[in-house]
Amino acid sequence: AAPLLEVRDLRVEYRTSYGLTNAVNGLSYAVDRGETLAILGESGSGKSVAARAVLGIIESPPGYVTGGEVLFDEVDLLRLSRKQMRRVRGERMAIVFQDALTALNPVFTVGFQIAELFRVHRGLSKSDATAKAVELLDRVRIPNARNRVHDYPHEFSGGMRQRVMIAMAIALEPDLLIADEPTTALDVTVQAQIMALLAELRRDLGMGLVLITHDLGVVAEVADHAVVMYAGRGIEYGSIERIFESPAHPYTRALMRSIPRADQKGGRLEAIDGAPPNLSNIPSGCEFHPRCPLATQLCVTDRPEVVEVAPGRRTACHYGEEVVKGER
Ligand code: SF4
Ligand code: MG
Repeated sequence: AAPLLEVRDLRVEYRTSYGLTNAVNGLSYAVDRGETLAILGESGSGKSVAARAVLGIIESPPGYVTGGEVLFDEVDLLRLSRKQMRRVRGERMAIVFQDALTALNPVFTVGFQIAELFRVHRGLSKSDATAKAVELLDRVRIPNARNRVHDYPHEFSGGMRQRVMIAMAIALEPDLLIADEPTTALDVTVQAQIMALLAELRRDLGMGLVLITHDLGVVAEVADHAVVMYAGRGIEYGSIERIFESPAHPYTRALMRSIPRADQKGGRLEAIDGAPPNLSNIPSGCEFHPRCPLATQLCVTDRPEVVEVAPGRRTACHYGEEVVKGER
């Protein structure tokens, strides 16, 4: 059967008076129902833009999807009308953002905001919709849901607010949930609780989960597969186990080495040398060559294509076959 979501060679540009930014330069991945795919990369690597393109929420101008396919149950979402896409987004896919405070409306109670979804999409009465809201707050383990449903977003802690966002996202039982840095703003204990909640909901609802993060510690336990993004491109693909064990791309290898050995929490992708490239001026050849310890003249002139370097492993490095075996 076809995967729930299959993204093929996605490309996104931003055109402003300052020039052209190649925000996404070729990203492919697939995710199935009940599966978690992690999208890893430093800030500015195009992760969030790619997610917005999948959901059809890129603002145009200045952003344009210039290539690729987004197949959701075999239908290319990039070909749907705005109205059709709004329907898919409301009913079948949802997103949780990093910052729940800006994503929630400050002037309405959280109960009202959740209940609205059931009134608009399911035609429920006000009291039935509010009962559903209580049920959902309970499901995401907000204590005392019956009373808290009447509170405003600012009356919740950061972690509880993220739970409210998750409740809204799963309200209509989507097939796919995209979580964009869902725990970045939270402290470590709360991060772990939110990740556990997402994993549990994914399992119970049988959703596909796309988890966007720059925190390697977060993904090791929850993801099945991963894509590593660099300079807007997917440069390594594979199962999370294999990627951690034997990275196929020197960038991924550097990321893995940036994780503290003792426990794998708190590995930050910012920890490697050099700065990520400016997406308005991507280096020639391999986009990683200015930071790559293995770079040769070939890397400066020729851009490596993404190719299979081992079973189920794909990477964009001229020497990927040797890197994955640890021979280079
Ligand atoms: Fe490094 Fe060259 Fe591989 Fe790019 S192609 S990652 S510069 S070795
Ligand atoms: Mg982002």
